Amino acid sequence: MACGKVYLVGAGPGDPELMTLKAKRLLSEADVVLFDRLLDPRMLEGVKGERIDVGKSAGSHKLSQEGINRLLIEKALKGNMVVRLKGGDPYLFGRGGEEALALRERGIAVEVVPGVTSAVAAPELAGIPVTHRGIASAFTVVTGHEEPGKDSPLDWGAVARLGGTLVVLMGVSRLEKNVGQLIAGGRSPETPAAIVEKGGWADQRLVTGTLGDIAEKASRAKIESPAILVVGDVVRLSEQLARKRIAILRPEAQQEESAALAEAYGFLPVQSPAIALVERPLPSDLMHRIMAAECVAFTSANGVKMAMKAEGVRLGLEKKMIVAIGPKTEAALAGCGLRSEKPEEYSSEGLESMLNGKCKRILFLRSAQGSQYLSEGLRHGGIEVDDIPLYEVVLSRNALLDDLIRHPEAVDIFAFTSSSTARSLLERARELGLEDSLRNALAGATVAVIGRPTAAELERLGVRVDIMPETFTFEAMLRALRRVS
Ligand code: SAH
Repeated sequence: MACGKVYLVGAGPGDPELMTLKAKRLLSEADVVLFDRLLDPRMLEGVKGERIDVGKSAGSHKLSQEGINRLLIEKALKGNMVVRLKGGDPYLFGRGGEEALALRERGIAVEVVPGVTSAVAAPELAGIPVTHRGIASAFTVVTGHEEPGKDSPLDWGAVARLGGTLVVLMGVSRLEKNVGQLIAGGRSPETPAAIVEKGGWADQRLVTGTLGDIAEKASRAKIESPAILVVGDVVRLSEQLARKRIAILRPEAQQEESAALAEAYGFLPVQSPAIALVERPLPSDLMHRIMAAECVAFTSANGVKMAMKAEGVRLGLEKKMIVAIGPKTEAALAGCGLRSEKPEEYSSEGLESMLNGKCKRILFLRSAQGSQYLSEGLRHGGIEVDDIPLYEVVLSRNALLDDLIRHPEAVDIFAFTSSSTARSLLERARELGLEDSLRNALAGATVAVIGRPTAAELERLGVRVDIMPETFTFEAMLRALRRVS
């Protein structure tokens, strides 16, 4: 008989980067991989062998535990190297022990590979250490989902009397009952409690409250499995330790870079592009208008990229005074070998004081929705303004934006980098019939803007603004946010 082997491998709580090196290696070597429905598809990148989903969602047939055991045995007996990938750690409420026993009984070699368990990681990723000096010196993990008629049911009274932190897995559907039993067993309804949904996933959520109100709060937030209940004073630490979730509303092309920056500043970015840029054809008198201007101003790196596509523009600009609004724009120009000047403040006032006496005719090469606020200020100061729209800013209709609008309470911070991001977010919410819930979430969240025109637009839209940095850049906005959150 050929001898196969089965590895029972822990996949961690959900983020593929929290898999172990050994798990990754075994997956790439496996002939067959059996996995559960909830696993992130990125975990299976690099799998060359057969993939079997044993946890197809309810409705379509889900394999029973016996079915899974049988399949593992069958595949191993054919001489395969089999990886049975399981959420979290295989032996913590994962039925890994049962699978190992069934295989051993058939004389099949089996090896377990531990994984990062959600029992510790999910609270941890939401800013809750399960133990903490002076607050909790023990933690208990229990199941919140007991099979009816089980021989040795969980003694909730005893669990309630245990000190320390209590972590309840598989408890979403019985949350109210479980919490009730803990209170009946003597735990104060005032005890801090939290639910962590999808810990380590991109759409992780945290709901905090007390034992007395957590069930109601969770049902209002429509918390679904997988989620973990944490009970104990350690929950309070999440106020300081939870990473704040920030909605990144910039155009798609800037999402990755902005998300990385937000992460570097300690935030959890939620990518939700609100706008998209649609390029416009350049006018035939472009060169003529460049020549007629004394100085040419760019307001974004995108604008620089688009303008440079036309022949002769770079050369024509070499002889002009060039103004860059913001460091990214300046860097894009420098990349084309063009030196530019930046106003000290990225606003019409800043631009005006910079141009004072140096330039009487300015040409803007920017978005069609460029702020009138900027040009009007300059005209007021006696400067002639020409404006060539390079691109149109339109609503993105990106699915990620719709996700955000459906669960706006899942973010703590909305970061607006332009007036059009603000308009687009509200416009899409209106289209989806969800404007009221979005407005509620905005009222409860921290609203940050990159600069004055964006702040003015939000005010016009009836949204309160909390944070505006002193320098008008995305990075300065993140710094300002970190100071307050
Ligand atoms: N072996 C797994 C637990 C399996 S039981 C482990 O070690 O993590 C399944 C339960 O785990 C779910 O009902 C839920 O309570 C919890 N769970 C698993 N992944 C989770 C996650 N990413 N966030 C929150 N809870 C999770």
